[in-house]
Amino acid sequence: MIYDTIVIGGGPAGMTAAIKAKETCEKAKILIIDRNKKLGKKLYATGNGRCNIANSALDLSSYHSCNEFFPYQIINTESYKKLKEFFMDLGVAIYDDGGYLYPQSMQASTVVWALSDRIKHLGIEIHTTEEAESVEPTDEMYGIVTDCAEYTARTVVAAPGSAAAPKLGGTESVYRLLENTDIRTIAPHPALCRLKTREDTSDLAGVRARCRVSLLCDGDVYDSESGEIQFADGWLSGIAVFNLSMQCIDLLNDGRTPVVEVTLVPEMDEDDVLGYLRKFRDSNPDRRLEAMSNGLVNEKIARFIINRLELKSVTAARLTDEELDRMVFEIKHMRFEISGHGGYDESQAACGGIDTRQLRPDSMEADGYKGLYVAGEYADVTGKCGGYNIMWAVMTGMRAGEAAGKRLTHDKNK
Ligand SMILES: Cc1cc2nc3c(=O)[nH]c(=O)nc-3n(C[C@H](O)[C@H](O)[C@H](O)COP(=O)(O)OP(=O)(O)OC[C@H]3O[C@@H](n4cnc5c(N)ncnc54)[C@H](O)[C@@H]3O)c2cc1C
Repeated sequence: MIYDTIVIGGGPAGMTAAIKAKETCEKAKILIIDRNKKLGKKLYATGNGRCNIANSALDLSSYHSCNEFFPYQIINTESYKKLKEFFMDLGVAIYDDGGYLYPQSMQASTVVWALSDRIKHLGIEIHTTEEAESVEPTDEMYGIVTDCAEYTARTVVAAPGSAAAPKLGGTESVYRLLENTDIRTIAPHPALCRLKTREDTSDLAGVRARCRVSLLCDGDVYDSESGEIQFADGWLSGIAVFNLSMQCIDLLNDGRTPVVEVTLVPEMDEDDVLGYLRKFRDSNPDRRLEAMSNGLVNEKIARFIINRLELKSVTAARLTDEELDRMVFEIKHMRFEISGHGGYDESQAACGGIDTRQLRPDSMEADGYKGLYVAGEYADVTGKCGGYNIMWAVMTGMRAGEAAGKRLTHDKNK
């Protein structure tokens, strides 16, 4: 069977690409193949079921890629406007919650439904529960071998996502899909996941704290994030930690020893904390040390600090100035050596994938492979939490789909 475009993967990238290809070339015969039973399975689970579609705040730390500037050739203020228009056209009104974009309904299902309905309306064919195994370049065409059929396509959009979240369709086999081409893959690893501490943190289990977290290694600060940290038995998690996980795992994979520094009470500097503790000591000399630091931090953290510093004094009055300084330092620079990380089963995304140095940013077409496009998380671009990944998937799907549609229109008019 010959198709004009075969889209591998029915996530936000693949669904957008199929829609754009068909809208650009009305006569095109398009097929979406997905190994799941339904399209958009991962999308349903995003943003705790609310689907954080995009984010208007952008800086050089928003995306992680071996090709550092590539993501920003696609994601910019213009793309943010285009994405909003795309969803408005699908009938999904957008709610902007301080730069975090959601569907007005606050339901991920609204987004999946709108994309699926447009796909049906456009007459795009869908094969679910079918897995593409390889893409074989042939004369000006591509052979697609799946677990149950073989197809030929004039253009292909490879949008199978990543290995992250296997229960939602993620699979490590995606990285073998293009192995019959010369397109390189950057070795993948989990991203947006929790981090394992070398130290036993069972005494902190269950604590959540507002803080600033920084990733340190050999004296350098790699990244910093503000937000909530969650402590578990031997693990650090929470959005701020997830955002540091990408670089942290790179460091671990390089055999280095990354450290996560937790800065508690972020709105107070060290002098403010010292001032508070001194005042406490003067006004409450008989109270216990736990009570003293509990005035600023969670009770379990207060006890953890006292144990870590091996403070022998029991009451505030007996605390020496030197001990007071150490307590301040611990509150502002609580450090944990990182020894591991969560797996794909608990990751929200994966780093690595198709090397973007072989992709054209205007079309997502692979160099040397006319009509073969890559979209979404399959490319070596991973965003932080907060809408960056869906925004990347949709915008690259848009570019790939439009480029495929234009190529087909051009070929049909020849
Ligand atoms: C729990 C969770 C919450 C998240 N929340 C957010 C959020 O709020 N905001 C945000 O921006 N990002 C979020 N993400 C990340 C975001 O969901 C992904 O980055 C995004 O879905 C990637 O889109 P995609 O189309 O590239 O890939 P996917 O959505 O993964 O879709 C790829 C599709 O391809 C199919 N597939 C894979 N291999 C094959 C094959 N060989 N043949 C056929 N089909 C195949 C899969 O079944 C899948 O349906 C979250 C992720 C998770 C796991």
